[in-house]
Amino acid sequence: MTWTLIKAVIKARREGLLHLVPANEATRLDCLKAECAKCCRVLGTPVVTPAEAENIAPEALRKDKHGRIFTRSKNSVCCLLKDGLCSIYPDRPRGCREYPWYNVAGRLYFDAGCPGIKHDLDERPAAGDIMPFEDFFPLAPRFILWIVKKVCVKK
Ligand code: SF4
Ligand code: SF4
Repeated sequence: MTWTLIKAVIKARREGLLHLVPANEATRLDCLKAECAKCCRVLGTPVVTPAEAENIAPEALRKDKHGRIFTRSKNSVCCLLKDGLCSIYPDRPRGCREYPWYNVAGRLYFDAGCPGIKHDLDERPAAGDIMPFEDFFPLAPRFILWIVKKVCVKK
């Protein structure tokens, strides 16, 4: 799990994602959808809650030894990505719905690597409505999480 996480973070950073910066000014998402699909191709192993799993084909999911559920992926590309689009869009997991926004210790961040980020309008969500950053990495050892934050989150 830890090694998989480290490899996924390295890949994401190489591809320009997980560059989290504070959302201090007007920001919105204008998603490029199938023209991009970078988040699903690079961060494509989202955590799935048991309630969310009920609406996703079981063969698209995997459970780790602690019972946490994730979508299946290959090289961090989500198996539910079809022709550049999410094949379960209305039922996609919370982390997918909230991307590129992040809640780091109660403060709102966004992934500056998302090419759909614009600064012409203010459509920022409230940080408290976004899943805490740590929840993307369930059961990751604390020191690994600390390193991930150090590498990915700009102060
Ligand atoms: S990386 Fe950003 S622009 Fe690209 S598909 Fe994901 S949310 Fe949309
Ligand atoms: S579930 Fe859908 S939105 Fe989430 S990573 Fe997979 S293809 Fe992308």
